Amino acid sequence: MKILLIGPQGSGKSTQAELLAQFLGLPKISTGDIFREIAEENSADGQRIRETMNQGKLIDDSETAKMVEGRLQKDDVVDGFILDGYPRNLAQKELFDPGFDQAIYLKVPDGEVTKRMMARGRADDSPEAIKKRLDLYNEQTEPLLNDYRNQGILIEIDGMGSIEEIQQRVRSALQK
Ligand code: AMP
Repeated sequence: MKILLIGPQGSGKSTQAELLAQFLGLPKISTGDIFREIAEENSADGQRIRETMNQGKLIDDSETAKMVEGRLQKDDVVDGFILDGYPRNLAQKELFDPGFDQAIYLKVPDGEVTKRMMARGRADDSPEAIKKRLDLYNEQTEPLLNDYRNQGILIEIDGMGSIEEIQQRVRSALQK
């Protein structure tokens, strides 16, 4: 089973992806984790990715698409995978489409996401910066969600509640 987990920063998406991967016995692949690893490398690629990430920007669409396409050719994903973080926009999906069976969208109101991000207290988490990232996220993902909705594979999950409650919702939605 090929599953996409989609949702804004602060939606709890990575935690839910991790729990679901354990439950289904499938690998969890996170583009953010992969890029963070590359960013630690002492190479030209490492430095470029590091700078892009530190500026809060996205990695180039075609570079990201190629990276994911390469990763999904490895042996460990033959039975499926949980993908966290790709595609982020319609352009990426058009460059490389992993062919998901289900796309799970964790829905958390903007106000709640903002509250959670503020609570992290990071320097780049001013209310303005958070709003900007969230607006950009919504603008880029909306067309993607519509696409999966039209394909009939979008599952919308209420992302408010405890980690366990939300995981339960995800699991029962997948069984339907
Ligand atoms: P995340 O952990 O999903 O918040 O991702 C951390 C960072 O990795 C993002 O801010 C981007 O710089 C990069 N990244 C992750 N996924 C993608 C993607 N699909 N397209 C472009 N950049 C990405």
